[in-house]
Amino acid sequence: MGYMIRGVDKELTFRFFAVDARDTVEQARQFHATSPLASAALGRTLTAGLMMGYTLKNKEDRITIKINGKGPLGTILVTADNIGHVKGYIDHPEVVLPLREDGKLDVGLAVGKEGAVQVIKDNGLKKPYSSSSKLVTGEIGEDIASYFFYSEQQPTVVGLGVLVDVDYSIKSAGGFMLQLMPHLSEDEIIKIEKAIAKIPSVSSCFEQDKDIELIVQELLPDFELLISEKIPVSYQCDCSRDRMKEILTSLGEKELGDIIYTDKKAEIQCHFCNKKYLFLEDELQDIIKQSHKTIN
Ligand SMILES: [Zn+2]
Repeated sequence: MGYMIRGVDKELTFRFFAVDARDTVEQARQFHATSPLASAALGRTLTAGLMMGYTLKNKEDRITIKINGKGPLGTILVTADNIGHVKGYIDHPEVVLPLREDGKLDVGLAVGKEGAVQVIKDNGLKKPYSSSSKLVTGEIGEDIASYFFYSEQQPTVVGLGVLVDVDYSIKSAGGFMLQLMPHLSEDEIIKIEKAIAKIPSVSSCFEQDKDIELIVQELLPDFELLISEKIPVSYQCDCSRDRMKEILTSLGEKELGDIIYTDKKAEIQCHFCNKKYLFLEDELQDIIKQSHKTIN
């Protein structure tokens, strides 16, 4: 199973997160039957989601990342908590485009950049906090970094990489995120900038079956890294019959009446794991009755 780490450098100039998300992205690929291109786009967003979720304070908190760049893949939506669980979907998992000239998957073109990355934070109590920023390249990593900079005023470096094998399974998936501490001196900033400029392509780092602790240390050789926590990560859908019932209830009496009249049943499919929930006429009638009770 994959895992995620967090920590700081010894001088306390930045905090970092890193994750091995191979199994998580492979699970997503199996649920959604994604093309290699869709695996890369959804996989990068899931990887970012895991790390962004890890920045939340409480285990009840949720973060949702919604990306739509008006490209052929449509909307990508990912939701994560702060204990290593993530789920997501992509509008058009079947999309295939020609490879780029350098032989890589053209995620930027497939996602598009005529839109925004929207981030919604929900702690279950107050109204969810939502903020968005314009897409930069559609390659996801840079777009998330730009979101942090413009929406949260938090200088952040994000590296995300997904490699797809010849049989379309996920060969490797992982990422790291580095966030600068506030009030750094000029010298400290220059040192970090120099280190960041030397960081190679992320997918190649995660390709070799190496521990992420080692990968991050190799990415940042000029810093002594202190790891404060390590947790398992997984793709996890928390859909249930009760939750689907809530969705049906929210349709309202008229629409439910129409469904009963025309189909005598309703089938709802979960966007995140494709599980189907069937509700027969009796149950639909009960939902209508139940909603009367709650109103009165
Ligand atoms: Zn589900």
